[in-house]
Amino acid sequence: MASIYLHIPFCAKRCIYCDFYSTTLLEERDAYVQAVKQELQQRKNYLQGEDIATIYIGGGTPSQLTIQQIADLLACVQQHYTIRPDAEITMEANPDDLCPEFVAQLAQLPINRISMGVQTFDDKKLRMLNRRHTAKQAVNAVKACQDAGFENVSIDLIYGLPCETLTEWENDIDTALQLNVQHLSAYHLMYEEGTPLWKLWQEHQVKQVDEDLSVTFFETLTQRLKDGGFEHYEISNFCRQGYHSRHNSSYWEGVPYLGVGAAAHSFNGTSRQWNVANLKAYITGITTDNPSFELEELTQENRYNEMVMTGLRTAKGVNLDKLQQLFGNRMLQYFEANTKPFLANGDLERTADNRIKLSHQGIFISDGIMGELMFVS
Ligand code: SF4
Repeated sequence: MASIYLHIPFCAKRCIYCDFYSTTLLEERDAYVQAVKQELQQRKNYLQGEDIATIYIGGGTPSQLTIQQIADLLACVQQHYTIRPDAEITMEANPDDLCPEFVAQLAQLPINRISMGVQTFDDKKLRMLNRRHTAKQAVNAVKACQDAGFENVSIDLIYGLPCETLTEWENDIDTALQLNVQHLSAYHLMYEEGTPLWKLWQEHQVKQVDEDLSVTFFETLTQRLKDGGFEHYEISNFCRQGYHSRHNSSYWEGVPYLGVGAAAHSFNGTSRQWNVANLKAYITGITTDNPSFELEELTQENRYNEMVMTGLRTAKGVNLDKLQQLFGNRMLQYFEANTKPFLANGDLERTADNRIKLSHQGIFISDGIMGELMFVS
């Protein structure tokens, strides 16, 4: 079993907090789609013939492509890879691209999951973030997807926005709940160095919310979504029963994946590689059969650290049997010795099926706990 990720780096304009690789060179879309199709063919042996269980078209803004371009990409994946009949196929989209006509055409493609960047239902804050859509457009986009027959819709929210109050955040959560989506991802706003938001903060034009309020936001989020029938299956991810993101879960479980497109990352079990984060260099590299990427062979310690970090972020936790099987008794003992104080003070819990996971109180200090559990040579 394996996964495929297609990166579509185009954005009509840049949000002020974003540090993902994306570009506003929309005129390059055709050339880019051709290059992605070529890369899909060039790297068809990367996953060694494994069946594809999930495909994720992410960005950037994949909904900035035309229906024909999206259809061509999916047809190319189908041509070179064996897709499982029940594969989860997700496309990220911006709400203002999801007009009923576009959504109706999307529904004719093999896509069965839409992930929408909503961020907040507050128009003033959307403008401040330089988002393209309004709250009303986001609500209408979710409804358009549901009306077109999409039964698996996810939305992303951001909390901890400058000057955000608890009432405003509660309003975002409640509005999301009213939309009857199947999945929700919620992230605390990050002030990434080099972004326009970071600059505003440096110039004291915006203020970060204080730590106590951030904790209250997160507590409110988890409680309201739990009351609303959502399962909290990963630190930032919530779903209705049976609707966890299979694609992201396979990343956390160490399933191999092929990442195609500029800046896309791939993992084959022993190494990671990532394509150049530059549109023109990517296209030139692929079309001249001289792809530009970097590769890192993973040591046992790297893989152990990834397994501990990703496992602890999930509600299932770290599987000790699997850890022993993959890394042997020495690493298992290392893990058990380091987790002991956190188990004793209740930040970690041991489950009946021999896993170790964060407790409710541990979630709030997860970064610190993970740091203590990493292997440092
Ligand atoms: S639409 Fe998404 S990828 Fe594009 S700038 Fe905004 S947050 Fe970044």
